[in-house]
Amino acid sequence: MASAAQPVEQKAVANKPRVCEECGEEAKYTCPGCGRRTCSLGCVREHKAASGCSGLRDRTKLVSKEDMNNLTLLSDYSLLPNTNKLGDLL
Ligand SMILES: [Zn+2]
Ligand SMILES: [Zn+2]
Repeated sequence: MASAAQPVEQKAVANKPRVCEECGEEAKYTCPGCGRRTCSLGCVREHKAASGCSGLRDRTKLVSKEDMNNLTLLSDYSLLPNTNKLGDLL
């Protein structure tokens, strides 16, 4: 049986064709900074120059999000042995 009710938040980019947003060729790269698709370094540079995008991943955003997930995972796991031990003690 497939699991029924799980809230899924998927980005609505799935249906977009993978074409370079600079020249329309088949895209090979995705700008780490803004997600814009490009086909070549030349188009990456054009995109950066035109938009002022740094082409760099927004580290603070990503790290904080991943850290939050890791922390919640870790705390969830670390809770298990503790509760077991408590159960043994009681
Ligand atoms: Zn291109
Ligand atoms: Zn960009």
